[in-house]
Amino acid sequence: MSWIDTHCHLDAAEFDADRDAVRQLARTLGVKTCVIPAVMASHFDEVRLLAHRHADVYALGIHPLYTPQAENKDLATLDAYLHAHHNDQRLVAVGEIGLDGFVPEINTPEAFAKQTYFFEAQLQIAQRHQLPVILHVRRCADGLLKGLRQFPVAGGIAHAFNGSLQQAKMFIEMGFKLGFGGAMSYDRATKLRALATELPLSALVLETDSPDIPPHWIYTTAQDREKGKSQGRNSPAELPRIASVLAELRGISLEELATTTSANARQALPRLQSQM
Ligand SMILES: [Zn+2]
Repeated sequence: MSWIDTHCHLDAAEFDADRDAVRQLARTLGVKTCVIPAVMASHFDEVRLLAHRHADVYALGIHPLYTPQAENKDLATLDAYLHAHHNDQRLVAVGEIGLDGFVPEINTPEAFAKQTYFFEAQLQIAQRHQLPVILHVRRCADGLLKGLRQFPVAGGIAHAFNGSLQQAKMFIEMGFKLGFGGAMSYDRATKLRALATELPLSALVLETDSPDIPPHWIYTTAQDREKGKSQGRNSPAELPRIASVLAELRGISLEELATTTSANARQALPRLQSQM
């Protein structure tokens, strides 16, 4: 069986000590391809080189959490990279871009205006380069949908989706697949689990969001963290087990889930086709 981890920050500092071993372990467990989205311009080279080193794919963009320090010239850098590497079949999308309505520091009126500015500017860049986008959607689905209506793009993935069924349907109508990961492994995530169960299978892709969003089996509780235990590090090697959670929720086989979600990922990110 082979899997695609559609959202994996392999360039994160958490992997500095053992990055190649982490990727290799995931491969031995069937994770054939990782999609590595960039979060800031200074990492563009690193994600590109990483993707090439491990036969993975990548996306280039400025993440909403990194907009406070972002500058206009980073948009010019993004545009220049997309031009320079437009024949690189491993460059599959613009991302990670979006809006975050959760983190207080980027939700003052001024900081939110800057988030919106970078989001809309990057949608226009994606339009110009005819690339899909990888979206960060947190407590801001309606704002994102508004931006997408104003600057329509060639679909893509709404990653770590956690909106309403109504919002999910609107993303799907706009040509997006929805990314599900370790968050649905928690019994108390009833709304998210219902969503993952009820949405058409054709709309779903799998992701880890490594090193973040640890599934319950590697999550360290606040109590244990007080005692000095660090938070568990998520990695692409967890994808098959996360997949088995979804397969169980939907009552389908792992084989069917692997085949369908991989096909969905290739539909959302057409350049993935040349990798398979
Ligand atoms: Zn991410």
